Order: sequence, then C-alpha cells, then structure tokens
Amino acid sequence: MNRRSGILLAIAAGAALSLGRLGAAADAMAETPVDPMLAAALARVRDAAMGSDWSWQRLQELTDRVGPRLSGSPGHAAAIAQVAAAMRSLGAEVRLQPVKVPHWVRGEERAELIDYPGRPPGVTQTLHLTALGGSSATPAAGLSARVIVVHDFDQLQARSAQIPGNIVVFAMRFDQHLADNGEALPAYVQAGRSRFTGPSTAAALGAAAVLVRSIGGADYRLPHTGYTLWKEHQAPIPAAALAAEDADLVTRLAAQGPVTMHLLLTPKTLPDADSANVIADWPGRERPQEYVVVSGHLDSWDLATGATDDGAGVIAAAAVIQALQQLDLHARRTIRFIGWSNEENGGRGHQAYFDSVRQALDTQCAAIESDLGAGHALGIVASVTPDALARLRPVLAALAPIGASVLERRDGPVGTDIEPLQSAGVPGFAPLVDTRHYFDYHHTAADTLDKVDPQDLRAQVATMAVLAYYLAELPEPLPRVATP
Ligand SMILES: [Zn+2]
Repeated sequence: MNRRSGILLAIAAGAALSLGRLGAAADAMAETPVDPMLAAALARVRDAAMGSDWSWQRLQELTDRVGPRLSGSPGHAAAIAQVAAAMRSLGAEVRLQPVKVPHWVRGEERAELIDYPGRPPGVTQTLHLTALGGSSATPAAGLSARVIVVHDFDQLQARSAQIPGNIVVFAMRFDQHLADNGEALPAYVQAGRSRFTGPSTAAALGAAAVLVRSIGGADYRLPHTGYTLWKEHQAPIPAAALAAEDADLVTRLAAQGPVTMHLLLTPKTLPDADSANVIADWPGRERPQEYVVVSGHLDSWDLATGATDDGAGVIAAAAVIQALQQLDLHARRTIRFIGWSNEENGGRGHQAYFDSVRQALDTQCAAIESDLGAGHALGIVASVTPDALARLRPVLAALAPIGASVLERRDGPVGTDIEPLQSAGVPGFAPLVDTRHYFDYHHTAADTLDKVDPQDLRAQVATMAVLAYYLAELPEPLPRVATP
C-alpha cells in the first residue's frame, strides 16, 4: 500500500473536522480586530522561522552525533550538553535543572517457537522482539514455557488458571483506521493498555513472562518498545514487544493447539542516574519574571536516534528562541525553552520542574509542548477556556499563509510534560500535526532523521514561535483553565 496516497485529501478532511469542532467560537473570532503592529510582528516571526535551517542543522547534530538517548545513558548526557551549548550560543540564559532518573539498560533479546501444531521435525521459528523498558531478565539460559494468547483483559482473567508459569501474549491490535482519521493518539492509548498494564496484571496472576503485540502501524516486522508500569512493591517479570507480524504468527498457531516458546532477555536496572532539564530563557522586556514555556523532551528510546520522538519536537521548541534571536525581538514576557528529561520512562523531569515552580504558579502564563512527531503542521491544539479562543485569532491569521490555521480546543492535557502545569490551571498548547504515520516509526529502530521533512520541521517551528510570541506579548495572560 502506498502510505502517502490521499494525504492531501485526508489532511483537508481533518482540517474541516477540526474547524467544525471550533463551533460558535469561530463567529466571535471573525469579529475580533487584529492590531496591525502585532500582525506585522507575528508575520516577521513566522518568516524568520520558515527561512532558517537552524532547526534542521540542530536535529541532524542531535541524531547523527548523539543518537539514542535513553535516560541515564551517555547519549542522554551528551544531548543535554549539546543542546545547552546551542542555546548559550544564541545568547539565551541557560541553566541545567538537576533530575535523578531511572537507569535501565537493554541486553540480549531472543525468542523462538520450539514447538507448535504441525511443526516439522528439526524446525523452530525465530521471532523478532524487543524488551519493554522496566523488564526484568530471564534466567541466563532463558526460559521455555507454553504460550497463552489473549485478546483483552477479560480473556486474561477468564484463563487465569492457565497463566502461572506460562508466557502470556497480548494480541491487541493497533487501530490504523482510527489513526488515519486523525485520531492516532487515542488509537495508541487504546492498544497501549496491553503494554502499560498487561505485564503487571499477568505477573500478578503468576505469568513467567509477558509479550505484547507491538503498538503502531509498522509493517516491516519491527518491534516497538516503550515503558511498562509495575505496581508498587511488585517484582518485575520479563516483558517484551513482539513485532506485529510475529504476534499474529503466534496467534494463528496457538489457535491450532499448544505452542511452546524459548525466551531470553537480559536487561538490567541500575541505580538512578544524574540528569537534568535544559532550561533556556529568552528574557521578556517588561515582565521578565512571567513565563511562556515552549518545550519537548530530550530523552528518547534506545533503539533508534529518536528523530521524531522527540528530537523534532524538542529542537523545534529550541528553534523558537532562534527565530526571536534572528530578529532581536523580545516579547513582554520571558519565553522559556525546556528540554525535558526522562519523559519516556518516568517523567521525573516534568515533576522536578513543577516542584520548582509550585510556589509561584502565577508566573507560569502558558505552556506549549511538542511530542507528536514531525508531521505536517496543521495548526494548534489549545486547552483554554472557550471564551479565550477568539483571542487566538491573530495567531491563526499569521499562520494561514503556511497552511497551519486550524484551531482545535481540547479539555484536559495536551502533552505529558506540561500536564502538571495544566492540572494547576495553566493554559496548555501543542502544535497540531499530521500523526497518521507517526506510530509507524515511533519507539522502533526506524525512528531516524530521514522520517523528518525539513519543511515540515520549519513549519512546526513557525507555528510554535508565532504562538509563543503572541502569548508572551498579550497585555494580560489568558484566563486559567478549570481543572477537569
Ligand atoms: Zn515522546
């Protein structure tokens, strides 16, 4: 199948849908006049971002020179130093906020089917898999056990008598149709339940190990890693993701009779490591103690160079400062870039930042986060009060020439790392990007630089730069959002 076919049509449909969601606010918006001086400034910010290759150069530097950067790894430390240096060279006020992070290291990972219905003598089948973050190791020689395939948590409970000592395979499928309809994140969360809590649930029933069908649309037999959650005081068990094709193979064979697998995983959990959030301030000219946060996470999974998760997002956020630096432009308030630590397997970075501003939340006026890849920029997602929507009209007007003028209001969190701020009432924003193929590569060995289009990256920078500048320039901040 040609994955790119129909892309424009679907984008147009998605845009119409999102505008539809805007509803009555669109009328109010049309009547709000835009100050011509402000409109001119926003246009300059947009054009500075669209005309700069800084983001592409930094993303190439991050992915080619540093590469994978799982929390606690040498790559993560190198990325922190590299991005901090880049921000210093722009003249931003840079500091590293210390964070202690989990330190999990992948080892060997192998699996094969050693018995199944109709197996010819001497034949075994090698499976493609990768350990989930937080997995424990098998015995050094591996383990061999019967496979129990389940399609949901109800089936797991119904078969609980068969679970002890066996390997549970969760066969939940990722709904690519939902992703194609512009709902990739809900599709991810839906299929992701098996990965987030499947291993801990099966471990509580006595499973020897758990394998999940890889989440996402990948169809090159690539397993998709990610974090799995253990209950408090629960001992982790070996847990891994099978490539979707191999999960389907196991499912077909298990439907015919008993299947036995040999599994070897040798990951290690080391003591917590020293890490940091990178914070770079572009000072405000009137109210430097008030902040608009623009952010992405600097850690990544270890299988690839994390070009789209979240290299593109964190670099696009950093490039907001570079767009303003080119113009020597300072908004009323400070624009604060944050490169978050440890989004992927712990969230310690955003917790440390929130703890540091908890006593002065009035100073946090708005927060922007990009963590859904480097797809074509369509506009903005905003978690704001309904009556604040009309005030965003100048942003949409400035972004219309690059086709990023969709505004979608959402209740609740729009990003993992800004969620604590949003829960405290801070208006939250994210670039609205085309995510239909984000989960084809996300958390796999294929999340590499070639998946990023430099023009899409520049458009994402422009979207966040115009939004950040506008929010930092408002005479009064947008109203606080009631916590759902
Ligand atoms: Zn991410």
